[in-house]
Amino acid sequence: MKLLTFKGGIHPPYGKEYANTKAIERAKAPEKVYIPLQQHIGAPAKAVVNKGDEVKLGQLIGEAQGFVSSNIHSSVSGKVVDIKVCDVPGGQAPCVIIENDFKEELHESVKPKGDLETLTKEEIVGIIKDAGIVGMGGATFPNHVKISPPPNSTAEYVILNGAECEPYLTADDRLMVERPDDVVFGIRALMKSLDVKKGFIGIEANKPEALKNVMEAAKAYPEVEVVGLEVKYPQGAEKQLIYACTGREVPSGALPIAVGAVVDNVGTAAAISDAIQKGMPLVERITTVTGPCIAEPKNLITKIGTKVYEIIDQCGGIKQGVEAGKLIMGGPMMGLAQYTDDISTNKGSSGILILPESEARFPEPQNCIRCGRCTEVCPAFLQPLYISAYSLKNMFDQAEAVNAMDCIECGSCSFICPAARPLLPSIRTAKREIGARRRAAAKK
Ligand code: SF4
Ligand code: SF4
Repeated sequence: MKLLTFKGGIHPPYGKEYANTKAIERAKAPEKVYIPLQQHIGAPAKAVVNKGDEVKLGQLIGEAQGFVSSNIHSSVSGKVVDIKVCDVPGGQAPCVIIENDFKEELHESVKPKGDLETLTKEEIVGIIKDAGIVGMGGATFPNHVKISPPPNSTAEYVILNGAECEPYLTADDRLMVERPDDVVFGIRALMKSLDVKKGFIGIEANKPEALKNVMEAAKAYPEVEVVGLEVKYPQGAEKQLIYACTGREVPSGALPIAVGAVVDNVGTAAAISDAIQKGMPLVERITTVTGPCIAEPKNLITKIGTKVYEIIDQCGGIKQGVEAGKLIMGGPMMGLAQYTDDISTNKGSSGILILPESEARFPEPQNCIRCGRCTEVCPAFLQPLYISAYSLKNMFDQAEAVNAMDCIECGSCSFICPAARPLLPSIRTAKREIGARRRAAAKK
């Protein structure tokens, strides 16, 4: 099989061996869930339950506010005991706290939504919207927005990201191995919702069983092409995946739809399958609990709102004799380091990674030696050293002029830099500042 890829990129240690052979297991249901009302890009949802209410599994508890927002549903049946601000990955958010009665009673709205062949595209978009489905690769962008392109643009391809190029994470790999039919059902639903005739499912070559099973599942659907991808980071980034599958380059500052592409994650496709075939909204997900510090790495189906320390406990906790140095939600390249494990999972919780003290330390930065390696690996064809240098001197106009906003924050430049320059953090600062300036200018 010819393997497709993009220009640039790196080969970090992948660490997939900790969990890639571990079959998906269902995590023990927690006594309480802490379900954030903000677990997607866009406006937070508004609580539609009150303290003391009885709720059922799959019941709407937070209603989307505005177009770019997402519904939130209960992941258990039980009683709402509080609604208050709690610690969540990356900060704080209002959470609906529900005491689990362990009856798993389904809400009346949880029932199959119809046959894919007879559902209209508007009905599919409506089901996805009602089910609160967001990008499951970590981006958490509301999916119904993604599949409602502006009237002047036309989608030609749906591309599913099965690359899972982020080191250590294996949730998507196991999903494709164990539920390939749901992944294929999901892409077919997405294609129908967008009136698209061609779909790609891109899978990195280090997932041979996933490739085989998804190919088998897609056999009856010639409009869905399963393609092998080179093992390289960030193979699963939107623009890089589009280039690998179609040869089309998304212009600077544009969205994938500019070249006729809509990209989704394989986990999102499986969630769409659940929403249509079972009527189940997005209330749980597969989370990889992994890394050298975890006693028994696993791929667990976790209820949204479960505390991270409870999940780690179910994986045997921290291995004896290892000093844990850093907890990351997600993978080591694009994940978010946390200061506590007393946080609850959300729709984007693809991984819980614990790295040892020895791997968690940042080396002391040295002067740039102008080796050019950061430029060589940058998949967005940027010159990270210049953007970073401008940012460190607060020269944000100059950083904008060298396309800082095109940075996809993959971290490849920081990874490769022999001088340990703080490239990504300083580029992020520049992007934040430029974004704030653009917003302020738009208000004038
Ligand atoms: S500049 Fe941005 S896109 Fe380029 S390698 Fe660095 S983090 Fe990745
Ligand atoms: S990789 Fe590091 S040392 Fe080399 S040019 Fe880029 S910033 Fe400078």
